Amino acid sequence: MMRTSILAVCCLAFSAPLHAQSTRPVDWNALASETQQVLTDYIRINTTNPPGNELAAARFLKGILDREGIEAMILDTAELGAGRANLYARLKGNGTKRAVALIHHMDVVPVAPQYWSVDPFGGIVKDGYLYGRGTLDMKGSGIAQLMAMIAIKRSGVALNRDIVYIANADEELGSRGALIFVEKHQDLLKDVEFATTEGGDNSYENGQLRYVAVGAAEKRAIWQHLVVKGVPSHGSRPTKRNPVPKLIAALDRIAHWETPLRLTPVTTKYFHDIARFYPEPKRSWLMNISSALKNPKAREWIVSDVYWNAVLRNTISLTVVNGSNKTNVIPAEASADLDIRLLPDQDTTAFLAELKSVAADTSVHFTGLSIVKPSLASPPTSAFVSAVERAVKDRDPKVFVTTPMYTAATDRPTYQRAGIIAYGIDPFKVPSAELQSGMHGNDERLAVANIGWGVHFVYDILRHLQ
Ligand SMILES: [Zn+2]
Repeated sequence: MMRTSILAVCCLAFSAPLHAQSTRPVDWNALASETQQVLTDYIRINTTNPPGNELAAARFLKGILDREGIEAMILDTAELGAGRANLYARLKGNGTKRAVALIHHMDVVPVAPQYWSVDPFGGIVKDGYLYGRGTLDMKGSGIAQLMAMIAIKRSGVALNRDIVYIANADEELGSRGALIFVEKHQDLLKDVEFATTEGGDNSYENGQLRYVAVGAAEKRAIWQHLVVKGVPSHGSRPTKRNPVPKLIAALDRIAHWETPLRLTPVTTKYFHDIARFYPEPKRSWLMNISSALKNPKAREWIVSDVYWNAVLRNTISLTVVNGSNKTNVIPAEASADLDIRLLPDQDTTAFLAELKSVAADTSVHFTGLSIVKPSLASPPTSAFVSAVERAVKDRDPKVFVTTPMYTAATDRPTYQRAGIIAYGIDPFKVPSAELQSGMHGNDERLAVANIGWGVHFVYDILRHLQ
């Protein structure tokens, strides 16, 4: 017995570098704990954007990659400005197939600490959850990707595709990290076939994973800043030249505008896929979504779901309003910001023209606040989607994979422009209510059990993709 095990160890030690297919088993429990610790340390690096501070995060990731013998580079520091950076690493395969890129953004949105029950950057574990800004969006995914790639290397999985790891700055504000990376480093991306980043949105309810989403489409943000100019004066003498009531009247018309409901091929497929979860008549409504939207009862039920409503129409959320900063002063101007999200195939110029006609006041001036990205259209079937399907079936044959539209913007369209097929994968099982409240909200958290599940899931996707 003793003799055999020594022999086995010797063989493994000598043959592993020559025969990469002789894989070493992964200790999944140990990997889960290690991943949790790395994520905790990563959460503690405050990368609130602005200012971002992603250079510290990039150095942290590079330190881990260096220790594992995976070559990593900190890039674009000059272009991104003080304290900012992108990171790039590559685990080499034999090059038989084109590479796959695992991409995440290092920055996070600001917090309102008074609404949190713990320090958002403390890396606190409470009631079985790791709390922290970025656990869901998207440091958790970034570390699941990192540790899955490291586990692939450690276990000696034979790679037909290189695995590229990219961490970008500034996704939450101007997306300059990805834009600069794609513009400057075509050479690093030219062999990349698939990329995956955020934008999945799995369905997980009542402790049951219902489907895994491979995000294949996304809405486009065209944020607008509205300004009405007026004449400043004393609040004790009301005038017609107060810009505040004018702005409010225009905003009220915009807020009551019911944009038309419209289907795209991706959303039609999505509703068809999920119809199985619902009893009649809802099942038939979703199976035949086009006619259901003409039925008032079905339509009312469908748009009552905030996600379904958002993938069926162009949406406008009124988020920022500014008038006077003093109660007794009529201000020189009043302004507001609109968070507008268009369906991927919507013509932006036509939409803005319609928005202005709804506002119906030429004294309201509109300025764009965001760079309008190209629309994301990735194929709903591919080797990547098949690899995800295999990884899902290994876990539960009842769970299926669908390819829905994502309502928020990601860096996928930027990578798509480099000739890469970009998808969204969320490697965790998170109830939709928790995503809705935690992402960009308060008490963002990830179940500790999810961390091990996620790293194993990404590992299996990468293995099946070889
Ligand atoms: Zn994000």
